[in-house]
Amino acid sequence: MTYQLPPLPIEYDALEPFIDEKTMHFHHDKHHQTYVDNLNKALEKYPELQEKTVEELLQSKKIPEEIRIPVARNAGQHWNHSFFFSILKKGTTPHGEILKEINKKFGSFDNFKTEFTKSSTTLFGSGWVWLVYNKGKLEILQTPNHETPITNKITPVLVLDVWEHAYYLKYQNRRAEYIEAFFNVINWDKVEECFNACK
Ligand code: MN
Repeated sequence: MTYQLPPLPIEYDALEPFIDEKTMHFHHDKHHQTYVDNLNKALEKYPELQEKTVEELLQSKKIPEEIRIPVARNAGQHWNHSFFFSILKKGTTPHGEILKEINKKFGSFDNFKTEFTKSSTTLFGSGWVWLVYNKGKLEILQTPNHETPITNKITPVLVLDVWEHAYYLKYQNRRAEYIEAFFNVINWDKVEECFNACK
């Protein structure tokens, strides 16, 4: 069995004008596809590992040393992108249990937005900024490069891809504008679903 690129769950132009159609094509069809292809390539000689879920690969302590780095990188990027693309949609607003928990942890939604924005702006280089549910509370977390909370069995509720490939075509060096735009395309219905499933 080989790993497959999940289809984009929305139309490529569904996030316009905040995230443009061209970026979505490159991001999903090229970047994400390449991580999936490279994961399959790394596991070519290891059919028994191909049976594992992506989560199991990321949590396994028994990946052979010669493929440990490419598996961590490409399985991490595969998982992170699948999750990122699943929480994007225009036109929803924060509600329900997740909004209550955000208010409880950060004082207000605006405070949460400020902290998440700060974390996304200050992440040096490429990486991901997460809202996770860890040991009974929400936390904002940065991971560099391909790294993912899944490796440490921490449950993501929300994520922003802050690799340049996620925004460069439209925003170039203006990462702050991309982060502001992201807050218009978070699928809060999906985030609420993730939160209720993990808590
Ligand atoms: Mn990306």
